[in-house]
Amino acid sequence: MSMFLGALRERLGEAGLLVGGDLAAYENDWRKRYVGKALAVARPASTEEVAAVMRLCHEHRAAVVPQGGNTGLVGGSTPDDSGRQLVLSLSRMKRVRVVDVANASLTAEAGCLLAEVQAAAAGAGLLFPLSLAAEGSCTLGGNLATNAGGTQVLRYGNARELCLGLEVVTATGEIWHGLSGLRKDNTGYDLRDLFIGSEGTLGVITAATMKLYPQPKDRLTALATCASLNHAVALLSLARDRAGDALTGFEVMNRSSLALVARELPQLAQPLGAAAWTVLLELSDAESAEHARGVFEGLLEAAVEQGAVQDAAIAQNLQQAKAFWHLRESIPLAQAQAGLNIKHDISLPVSAIPGFVAEMDAALGAYLPGIEVIDFGHLGDGNLHFNVQAPRGVNPAQFLAAHEAAINEMVYDAVGQRGGSISAEHGIGRLKRDELAARKDPTALALMRSIKRALDPLDLLNPGRLV
Ligand code: FAD
Ligand code: ZN
Repeated sequence: MSMFLGALRERLGEAGLLVGGDLAAYENDWRKRYVGKALAVARPASTEEVAAVMRLCHEHRAAVVPQGGNTGLVGGSTPDDSGRQLVLSLSRMKRVRVVDVANASLTAEAGCLLAEVQAAAAGAGLLFPLSLAAEGSCTLGGNLATNAGGTQVLRYGNARELCLGLEVVTATGEIWHGLSGLRKDNTGYDLRDLFIGSEGTLGVITAATMKLYPQPKDRLTALATCASLNHAVALLSLARDRAGDALTGFEVMNRSSLALVARELPQLAQPLGAAAWTVLLELSDAESAEHARGVFEGLLEAAVEQGAVQDAAIAQNLQQAKAFWHLRESIPLAQAQAGLNIKHDISLPVSAIPGFVAEMDAALGAYLPGIEVIDFGHLGDGNLHFNVQAPRGVNPAQFLAAHEAAINEMVYDAVGQRGGSISAEHGIGRLKRDELAARKDPTALALMRSIKRALDPLDLLNPGRLV
């Protein structure tokens, strides 16, 4: 064992350092797109231990890859294949430190699973609204490091908007005690917002104070089919108008994405017939269950009358509501089962989305007949997961090798022309680093690079990611 690993072992103990053996769960990403080789996996159990790890890494010039639940989709949380990068897993830092009901906030350690944070809030009669399909495996630290979005952004914002304060270990092993529960604090540069979304390249988040909300009295979920994306956008406007803040979810799924679920996960019921677009709507009502149902019925009737909606079904009970959401959240799983595809996580002004999708469908169909676009996501936030799959019968790996660059260029050029973003919620990681360098405003890029140099001058934190 090298001196570096020996020193880590001494500081962290047996349980705190994994060397050798099967480390695949830490080395390979969720999509199995990136297969790495770690020097070792450090598993500190406290903020002081994280700081000690960073001091040793600094002393020995060792590169560190912070890792939460390893559910990231852009290759940011796993080591490269050099066998020289240390994985720093936060998985043992799982304490909910405080739930402050009067301040409507909660402080938890970075390794808490998102579902555990939600449960701690619910246990105090409050709501922690961040919600995504990976919530049983992803961590609070990872959510903040990627500024995760998910299904409730429309009403509550993404991880950044829910965060009040952070505790962070710097590249040199100092601890920034920034766990304030303040909603107002104008005392200079916003360090919290600098670390949020920095994907482990500026510091290691060890704990966070997050906002909580009142639990809604009732939640109702519905599915509706639309003949086109323009109709879905009309439905969104109508839903905003009728439901206001009570509209907490507005997700769309194109025909191909539900057909893929039917092929890969035939056990899942699909309550409405196949349609060009299926919308999932959720209302969270502060008044009562009856009030929510009244709003929903009025809204859907008006939508049918106006021709925006073809067919609709309101979930009759919690179990059915869960089944509707499960259908939506199973699309990534169905895709993972079907093999690699070319993923895009784009955002555009909602008004520009129908035109973008129509242009892309035509361009991609002309480029390679039989190509399939699995298009779904958070239309209410202007965020689509626009994933391109090989024609059936074509090997996915060969498809990616031959066409990924050209298809990315087509998609990202069209996104750029409409003022959109190449990463709405999944981040940059390794997957989009070069794309970012080519497409981000040059002044912004230069500022980002100076920040990176100032906070991590030896380039030890997640090297080769993001910038
Ligand atoms: P990891 O994957 O472990 O890490 C992600 C990045 O953050 C890496 O760069 C890592 O180095 C860094 N990092 C992790 N922890 C820390 C820390 N404590 N300090 C500093 N840096 C750290 N994302 C969405 O935004 N919305 C969705 O709806 C969504 N749906 C998903 C559905 C599925 C089925 C899957 C598999 C993923 C989905 N994701 C979604 C992506 C992913 O779940 C999120 O990016 C999540 O926030 C990552 O959390 P994690 O704990 O798994 O982080
Ligand atoms: Zn998403």
